[in-house]
Amino acid sequence: MVDVAKNLREVLDNLPKGVRLVAVSKFHPKEYIEAAYNAGQRIFGESHEQELAKKVTELPDDIEWHFIGHLQTNKVKYIAPYISMIEAVDSLKLLKEINKQAAKHDRVIKVLLELHIAEEETKYGLTLDACRHLLDDGQWHDLQNVHICGLMMMASNVDDQEQIRREMTLAADFFDEVKAKYFADDPEFKERSWGMSHDYKIAVQCRSTLVRVGTSIFGPRVY
Ligand SMILES: *Cc1c(COP(=O)(O)O)cnc(C)c1O
Repeated sequence: MVDVAKNLREVLDNLPKGVRLVAVSKFHPKEYIEAAYNAGQRIFGESHEQELAKKVTELPDDIEWHFIGHLQTNKVKYIAPYISMIEAVDSLKLLKEINKQAAKHDRVIKVLLELHIAEEETKYGLTLDACRHLLDDGQWHDLQNVHICGLMMMASNVDDQEQIRREMTLAADFFDEVKAKYFADDPEFKERSWGMSHDYKIAVQCRSTLVRVGTSIFGPRVY
């Protein structure tokens, strides 16, 4: 087994004050999560509903689980009872479904809006214009059981550090725009979730508040 506690400490040592770590534990067994938990880590990220459901029953109650992957609307009901944050919301439809399921459990679920900035072809994430449109539309104001707490993005998976920096800076500037226009009165709208194993050191220079790191802590995933 990899030395999870040592790796965790190394990552944490690289994070300035005010940046929190989501330890991405997808595809890793519960023993790895326990090792990080025993070293003090409390926020874990998963991206598959069934895997998460199993881990939730086996692991301590004070873990804050973040759902970081693409979430299908028909899966929301399974995670609504316990999820702390859903990081990758990219449609009003999904937002409404989270609201509906959260209401059933008398909860308010924190969410982030996922931006699509990377050059890669992916179906997921909102373009900046689509995100503006969703917020201008205003229906989200009526959703009492979801709380939009910030933005999330993945930079392009490239070696070019300057490109990664440009994309993350664009996201950070867009955060400022959205914050000023729609969330100026909401102190809870404060999260900028970017940075993974290969680029979290760049992310913290680009105003990230949440980094999502898996491989650097737990080693390579076995799919
Ligand atoms: C898997 C995953 C991560 C972690 O990736 P690593 O390269 O292992 O650090 C971060 N964010 C998202 C959305 C992921 O799916």
